[in-house]
Amino acid sequence: MTLIISLVFIAFISCSNDDTNDTTDDDGTVTELHAAFAEFDTDETDIYLDGSNVVIETTGNPNHTTPYWGVGNELYVAPTTATAMTPSLIPNFDGSATLRVSASPQLAANTTATSLGIIGVAISGAAIFNDQEGNGPLDQAVGSLDYSGAHIGPSVYHYHLEPKAWSDDDEDLIGILTDGFFMYGRKCNSTGTYPTDLDTSGGHTSVTQHTDVAEYHYHIINEIYSNTGRYVVFIGPFKGTPNAVN
Ligand SMILES: [Zn+2]
Ligand SMILES: [Zn+2]
Repeated sequence: MTLIISLVFIAFISCSNDDTNDTTDDDGTVTELHAAFAEFDTDETDIYLDGSNVVIETTGNPNHTTPYWGVGNELYVAPTTATAMTPSLIPNFDGSATLRVSASPQLAANTTATSLGIIGVAISGAAIFNDQEGNGPLDQAVGSLDYSGAHIGPSVYHYHLEPKAWSDDDEDLIGILTDGFFMYGRKCNSTGTYPTDLDTSGGHTSVTQHTDVAEYHYHIINEIYSNTGRYVVFIGPFKGTPNAVN
């Protein structure tokens, strides 16, 4: 009898432990958005669960200042780092896009190289691109990048480098990549400093400011990229399975 009571008690404790991080119901269905999604700008993005997926709809526009808003816009600032701006301006493009990712992304058996175009959505609402510009190295486009490491060339406004509009040598959330994993700044909340255990994609598994359960996420690698003088957001490869952006 004592044994039975003990077993019941242990089972009860086990269930209780499972419930402490309960964003899923009993059959494993995700019932709550990951806490990190609260960091995304609600004017620029609309984020919701759809079954086992998270849908991220964005205007594609950054919620911060840049010369690429154009003179006269309330978010316009004169260029500081950009010495050779591209002629395009944010108001001239419809940057709206929809990304659908798994609500519980998994590491894939094989990695996937990044490609040109949108590889992620930042918390500002704007797009994240990789380290290439028109199939060439980013170096040739450095002169067109604003203080936040972004430009238009020629479609949507997008970040190639550490987005200093809100993250500068810190652990802040940058955004989400198309494989569903989150991207953080150069430091990690788990240690308060630069992670030393990153894989070749800049990722590792640890707790973050958004979860008590260790989970895979990427960081901006704390190494000056090429001759940009700054830090590139993501080179790849994706460790999960990237999803299309429509
Ligand atoms: Zn670019
Ligand atoms: Zn980390």
